[in-house]
Amino acid sequence: MLTVQKYGGTSVADAEKIRKVAAGLVRAAQNGDQVVAVVSAQGDLTDRLLEKIRSVTDAPSPRESDACISAGEQISAALVAMAIEELGYPAVSLTGWQIGLMTDGTYGKARIRALQNWRIQQELNKGKIVVVAGFQGIDLSGNITTLGRGGSDSTAVALAAMLKADRCVICTDVAGVYDRDPRKFPDAVKYERIGYEDMLKLCREGAQVLHDRCVELAQEYQIAVEVRSAFSDEAGTMVGNLE
Ligand code: ASP
Ligand code: MG
Repeated sequence: MLTVQKYGGTSVADAEKIRKVAAGLVRAAQNGDQVVAVVSAQGDLTDRLLEKIRSVTDAPSPRESDACISAGEQISAALVAMAIEELGYPAVSLTGWQIGLMTDGTYGKARIRALQNWRIQQELNKGKIVVVAGFQGIDLSGNITTLGRGGSDSTAVALAAMLKADRCVICTDVAGVYDRDPRKFPDAVKYERIGYEDMLKLCREGAQVLHDRCVELAQEYQIAVEVRSAFSDEAGTMVGNLE
């Protein structure tokens, strides 16, 4: 079974959490799964990189801004890969450009156009856990682009589609998709399943749990997306076709 598992910024925020993520990935691989992880930048690193940009200029070049903020995901991917190796399991980190994640040239909110899976497949065939840097890609002229805030979710779904993964899991800091933000409303109700259209509606209403483009991609390629907590076994929410 091939699984794509995405971990957001809070799930890789410090060394202890990275070790837990690595241990979970190794457990899945030892159970016989081929595992592709997609990671976001640690904690609020992307915000801090944006602050650094503003400390240099009030009118940042969109190209250089993307070159700067895409760095956070590259750091996470390498750290997670090293934590996996520390557990004695082979791993490799890959950037968006190393997996040929091609986008249009819209800096800051680029759309995924194509993805090569040969490199990932090659590493999986060597028995490695592949850790991909989310959120980043490259345009047709070779410039680094980013997919918009929260865009690592879209990297994960695009990978699941291209690799024909058996499972696509978004591991996050809440235990699924709720009718309201469970971090603000303790009485929020969790969906067991939710259709693409209803999920898109929640995204448009401001729900942060999934990137809107990730849901569009999932619908286009008919990928069922499992949203669950990174560190608990609580059943999450299945986003997909309800029929
Ligand atoms: N690190 C990026 C952000 O903060 C992308 C992501 O987290 O998915 O928006
Ligand atoms: Mg997110």
